Amino acid sequence: MSVPGFSSSLSSPSSASTDGFTSSPPDLGWAPSAASPILCCSPSWSTPSPACAFSGAPEFPAAMPLRPLLCCLAAALLALGGCQTTDPMKASEPAPLEAALAALRERPAWTDHAPLSFPRHPAGVYLKDWYIVLDPGHGGDAHIPGYKRGPTGVREAEINWRVALLLQELLEAEGARVFLTRDGDFDVSNADRAAFANTLPRADGGEGADLFLSLHHNASSNPDSNYTSIWYHGEARWNESVLDLAVILGHSLGRHLRTEVGRTSLLMSDQQMYPQGFRVLRDARVPALLLESSFHSNPAEEQRLRDGFYNLREAYAIYEALCEYAYAGRPTQSLVATEDHPEGFGMVWELDDGLPKNWWGAERERILPSTLQIRLGDNILPHRYDRDTRTVAAILPADTPDGAILSLHFTNFMKRHNHPQRHRIRMEATPPVLEAIGTKRPFAPDPR
Ligand SMILES: [Zn+2]
Repeated sequence: MSVPGFSSSLSSPSSASTDGFTSSPPDLGWAPSAASPILCCSPSWSTPSPACAFSGAPEFPAAMPLRPLLCCLAAALLALGGCQTTDPMKASEPAPLEAALAALRERPAWTDHAPLSFPRHPAGVYLKDWYIVLDPGHGGDAHIPGYKRGPTGVREAEINWRVALLLQELLEAEGARVFLTRDGDFDVSNADRAAFANTLPRADGGEGADLFLSLHHNASSNPDSNYTSIWYHGEARWNESVLDLAVILGHSLGRHLRTEVGRTSLLMSDQQMYPQGFRVLRDARVPALLLESSFHSNPAEEQRLRDGFYNLREAYAIYEALCEYAYAGRPTQSLVATEDHPEGFGMVWELDDGLPKNWWGAERERILPSTLQIRLGDNILPHRYDRDTRTVAAILPADTPDGAILSLHFTNFMKRHNHPQRHRIRMEATPPVLEAIGTKRPFAPDPR
């Protein structure tokens, strides 16, 4: 793919574009070299790691940070008769417990990155036909000295772009329909980025993406900071469904990038930064998150972020989280009846657990009734739930003010929240009309 402005820098770290770098990167000791080959052994109970086939690539990090762990593994494997790299079926005996106990005494540091591996996720099939908008943050800012750059000048806009391209490849391989808010090194207003996701045409005749992810990297005056944070708009209670994804994303990025997991909250409201929040999230009418995967202001992380395979590590972390998220389903509901009632309007919704109907056990209860709640503004409305028909009924009071917010909440047994939850009530119509907030169309829940 020809990528204006960025094509040269995607080839390899050593051939990275000089655009954006104010000086040569320091030698931090992690750069791959022929003198530090990757040990690549598979235990007898597993198939060879994809990393084995990839050992000629610029694996990250190279042998130095992994040496303690690899020595343990090598010792254990040598004790078993050597490194089994060709046919795991011919492997000797499994490792004794003592070897595992001994390995525990030489544990690697959290910041020692595991070998890169990026197999297709078996649950990737559940992403088929999801409409996903990726938003590489910033762009077109190379002429602004020091703007959104790391200590040696690496531009955040370029890192965001590289990760977006790799993530697009990973997701499209699963049949997801992926769209980028920019296709080169130029800026797009935050309002236009959100509008792009809101108005995305769909093959089902609707519009709007299933998911909008704005990709960023963080900066701090503290050069040591390097944690992952996932940002949502406004209040957590407005974002129950997309926060399910935010948690998985945050953990996956922390695990793959070895960021400072546990230092502070994984989840952040954009109102912690600005009273009105981030425009790109505030304007989004589809489930939206902003990812600050790591800190380009951290000198070591900045150098890692120059490496295309480190960018792939990040893209894979996001991809893996999306696979896990889609696998657990996104429940939804449809309003199936509205009828006059002496006290107002009776409303009946049919709940959908968001999970495939052909799974073994699909006929069993997969919605947790204790999580079911219907609210009118701050007040909880009484409801009646029928487990057999999976329908829930409530009465909307006749004196409900026009424009009031009605929300309906529940989770499936994978603890995934329904979407959409919030609706604006239009009382001028008879019966009243519920306009979903945060979506422009009903969500089609069956990914198959
Ligand atoms: Zn940014």
